[in-house]
Amino acid sequence: MTVEERVADFLAKNKGKAYCDDCLAGELGINRHQARNATSGLAVSGRFHRDSGACSKRPHHRRKKVTRA
Ligand SMILES: [Zn+2]
Repeated sequence: MTVEERVADFLAKNKGKAYCDDCLAGELGINRHQARNATSGLAVSGRFHRDSGACSKRPHHRRKKVTRA
């Protein structure tokens, strides 16, 4: 499984929840750079939504890009 596939799988299992790249990285044991690459690619595919907003995992002190299925 590629990192992108792992991220896609995780987001599909947590459908409706939005995760920022940092929290996705923490959940999947990858670094934030890998998470960002994966979410950017998934957003381009059109299967996932990537917007600025609130992260479902925990509150952050600033708005971030979050990705959801
Ligand atoms: Zn987060």
